[in-house]
Amino acid sequence: PRQFFVGGNFKMNGVAKSITDIVNNLNSAKLDSETEVIGVAAQNVYDKPNGAFTGEISVEQLRDTKIDWAVIGHSERRVILKESDEFIARKTKAAIEGGVSVILCIGETLEEREANKTIDVVTRQLNAAAKELTAEQWDKVVIAYEPVWAIGTGKVATTEQAQEVHAAIRKWLGDAISPKAKENVRIIYGGSVSEKNCRELATQPDVDGFLVGGASLKPAFVDIINARI
Ligand code: 13P
Repeated sequence: PRQFFVGGNFKMNGVAKSITDIVNNLNSAKLDSETEVIGVAAQNVYDKPNGAFTGEISVEQLRDTKIDWAVIGHSERRVILKESDEFIARKTKAAIEGGVSVILCIGETLEEREANKTIDVVTRQLNAAAKELTAEQWDKVVIAYEPVWAIGTGKVATTEQAQEVHAAIRKWLGDAISPKAKENVRIIYGGSVSEKNCRELATQPDVDGFLVGGASLKPAFVDIINARI
């Protein structure tokens, strides 16, 4: 069985005082021992090992500070920073080859959903990563399905919408990667997850956890980590 996995994406929020409060709250709470909660992850990494790349951070630098996870391909980077599928795929490969596991974010915009392109878009985003990674390297990937229209909008996907896309991603894993990847790779949902909607989403067979933005900055994050108990 796949271990339930919850990440908090603080984005560009927080200062020492507020983050300390969040960490203290998590440390004093009773958390589901069956849930994998990410320690500290980077929100980006560069695809080159080192060199004259002002403002970027390398995989080796992450490892040096004991960070062994990175969020790659978040829609805010795809949209605001214009990162392409191919660049995201190269960064994913560089991270994994350097020993950093990856939360690979994918998802469609509202326009794409309304044009019935959701599965095409997530498949295109995944195919780009599949070109760079070996089948075994998918062991180091957690896929985060984050519909762009649900991020920070309060408009969560329905359980049916989430399950439908997660099931399609799982089928893709079997067809494009391997039976083992289909069985083992966690597919987590992100986009307006809250303490109110997490329990129902967590009942779905292909929803293996959450990537939480806004609610991860609040005490209610504990309830989301505990969505399965
Ligand atoms: P919200 O939970 O604030 O909608 O953000 C989701 C997200 O982008 C997680 O990566």
